[in-house]
Amino acid sequence: MCWISRNNTAIVMKTPTMFMFLAFTISCSSTVKQNKMTEQHNSNPYYSRTDTIHLNVSNAEWKKILPADLYAVAREQDTERPFTGKYWDADTKGTYYCAVCGNKLFRSDAKFASTCGWPSFFEAVRPNSIIYKEDNSYGMKRIEVECARCNSHLGHIFDDGPPPTFKRFCMNSISLDFEPDDKNVIK
Ligand SMILES: [Zn+2]
Repeated sequence: MCWISRNNTAIVMKTPTMFMFLAFTISCSSTVKQNKMTEQHNSNPYYSRTDTIHLNVSNAEWKKILPADLYAVAREQDTERPFTGKYWDADTKGTYYCAVCGNKLFRSDAKFASTCGWPSFFEAVRPNSIIYKEDNSYGMKRIEVECARCNSHLGHIFDDGPPPTFKRFCMNSISLDFEPDDKNVIK
């Protein structure tokens, strides 16, 4: 392995050293991503990937904890613009969790390519991980989908999904945290 530096001096790095350097760089970039996610959740004492006990937290409290864009969708039923979220066309294998409380919501196996511009799933990972509510806002009759642990807004469900359920959970990317099965995959 050889580079030419600015003063034209050859810099030689033996292959094993180079391999270690690359391995270190890759491991660092993955750690940085993990740290960013952990940092966001460090300020959220309610976030847990294992605790399923229902949370009763006021919006005033959530507003202090959550980033403004997540608060707007999760607690004020805002909708992110289609084709702008992180996960609408993602197909990496892994698990999707509630970005507000860490509740396990969907597996990538139930995700399907939808043209609507939002991540779409045909079933939840557990029937009791989500709850449904009538939503008659904007002159439409829709069914809202909420996280069953923290009652945060995730999106809506429609009857135009693929088999076997024919349902389409139309979710906001920002309401979801994704954990790839392969931890080396960039999120
Ligand atoms: Zn939640």
